Amino acid sequence: MIRSYEPPSTTGTDTMTQVEWTQIFQSKANTLQPGDSWHLEFDENIVPDSPNPGWKQYIRNTTARFKCTKCTRSWPSNKVMVVFHMHLTNGQGIVKARPFRQNCKVCHEAPMVKPKITSENINILLENLMKKIRIKCYNENLERGDRPFRRVEVKSPHEPSHCEACILGICTKDSTFMY
Ligand SMILES: [Zn+2]
Ligand SMILES: [Zn+2]
Repeated sequence: MIRSYEPPSTTGTDTMTQVEWTQIFQSKANTLQPGDSWHLEFDENIVPDSPNPGWKQYIRNTTARFKCTKCTRSWPSNKVMVVFHMHLTNGQGIVKARPFRQNCKVCHEAPMVKPKITSENINILLENLMKKIRIKCYNENLERGDRPFRRVEVKSPHEPSHCEACILGICTKDSTFMY
């Protein structure tokens, strides 16, 4: 009998990623509103386009790399969706984040893996998020629009059947670039 393959633990990387996101998030959130506190958490269970009552949503794509835990192949993508749900009450703000996963197109039934986003793009993403918080949670009248993220060259087409956001029907419909 063949034992099923067990992917190596990614807990260490996840923790590091979380620390980096939290540090960048806190440094930006501190400037939102004196006296208010904001907290970021990752939540795989938030549903795009269905925030809980009283919660606001921000959804955006960015660039990241993925690495297959089965064959260690890695690939870049400019269609990496991240959904944020945010809520502010009595000066206590919570942001829940869910970056969407992709899986390897070469391996059979490869597990979905989380994106690795560069510090630069995490900064841009969270800067855009802060602007959305100002508009949606503090009702500030700011100009709409997002700071563009830094894209990488992607030589092969986006693979909808290997993209969690495509499977859920929420992948970017931005037609200004193909991949
Ligand atoms: Zn693979
Ligand atoms: Zn997609």
